[in-house]
Amino acid sequence: MKIIVQKFGGTSVATAEARHKAMEKIIRAKNEGFAPVVVVSAMGRKGQPYATDTLIDLVKSIDKEIEPRELDLLISCGEIISSVVLAHSLKAKGYPAVALTGAQAGILTDDNHGNAQIVNIDPTPIKKYVEEGKIVVVAGFQGCSSNGDVTTLGRGGSDTTATALGAAIKAEFVEIYTDVDGVMTVDPRLEPEANILKDITYKEICEMAYQGAKVIHPRAVEAAMSGHVPIKIKNTFSDAEGTLITDRAAARVITGLAHIADLSQIKVVLNEEAIQMAKVRVFKLMAEAKISLDLINVGSDSLHFVVSSEQAQKALNILQEAGFDARVRAGCAKVSIIGAGMEGVPGVMAKVMESLDKAGINVLQTSDSDITISCLVKEEDMADAIKVLHNAFGLNQQSDREENSE
Ligand code: ADP
Ligand code: MG
Repeated sequence: MKIIVQKFGGTSVATAEARHKAMEKIIRAKNEGFAPVVVVSAMGRKGQPYATDTLIDLVKSIDKEIEPRELDLLISCGEIISSVVLAHSLKAKGYPAVALTGAQAGILTDDNHGNAQIVNIDPTPIKKYVEEGKIVVVAGFQGCSSNGDVTTLGRGGSDTTATALGAAIKAEFVEIYTDVDGVMTVDPRLEPEANILKDITYKEICEMAYQGAKVIHPRAVEAAMSGHVPIKIKNTFSDAEGTLITDRAAARVITGLAHIADLSQIKVVLNEEAIQMAKVRVFKLMAEAKISLDLINVGSDSLHFVVSSEQAQKALNILQEAGFDARVRAGCAKVSIIGAGMEGVPGVMAKVMESLDKAGINVLQTSDSDITISCLVKEEDMADAIKVLHNAFGLNQQSDREENSE
């Protein structure tokens, strides 16, 4: 039996109408001869009755401190409700189906509540139901630790459930259904000229996701990559072909852009005598306070790095209390261009700097890896920087993107 995993995100299960669309996709797969294993997110977004954030508000309105173990038990309910509603709706239409929690689906995790990692998946329960001809609907975002406690997988958890299940049950492919036609060259909410990518490599989408594109979670991509399961990103609300994610993709220099807003740049000026020791101390202090750093730049007598604006004040206080000359520049954003084809191609950085300069956009800091160039800009310049780079690399042109060379 050819199994496929189909994951439906929050907006795809939020209303009866959306669930109807989702069911069309499931039934179509079934009619094409596949055994669909469905993974669902909680229904709707904050404010709606069964959305995860609504459940969190419910307990936090009583007392903000809640045990991680119990919080996990609570927030796993959104997906469980969703799985029962969808399985029940399928049955009402005459399609045998069964709803499973993460634990019932054999998903074993560590006990890191709120951000648990999957350690093993026992494919037996799902396979049993598939052999009975049932459509299996699994509650996403959750598992169970070795002592039987319910755990949740953190942000993008349902994506991870889908790809990890796909790898464990050796699915033909994993379909991630959402509210856009596929992976686009840039977040369509920011740039109306965004284009759909027919294909993209695991490595590129993973990097785009790390750099802020929230269309799929990077951890989910890694799970599919290690199991060699192809992913398709598709729209629940259209018949667009979507984006295929595998090891290979069309040749091009730049594939897409991503962004992260709400960042603050911290500068530490070092005038101590033991300058090397001071540098080490700065990073140790940040690590002890569990502040994650990005765009780290170590100069001879200064350090620059970027933190989320949420953590900026805390970082600054720690550094100043330790006697460092530290300053913060709030209101920053990181804009990144990603493309496996930029490796070894000269002139990409020159083009980035030149186009931003022409548009009067000041680049505060840069960093680069083999397939990414990131620029820190002022938040007010972010939308412009995205547009300028999107155009500069020809990503706004639909037809000839394959040749968007230098
Ligand atoms: P779901 O609830 O289905 O998981 P998400 O909101 O997590 O949906 O992800 C879909 C959203 O990701 C889209 O609505 C879009 O705004 C955003 N997004 C960000 N970057 C991209 C991109 N490069 N391509 C497509 N969508 C993107
Ligand atoms: Mg998502």
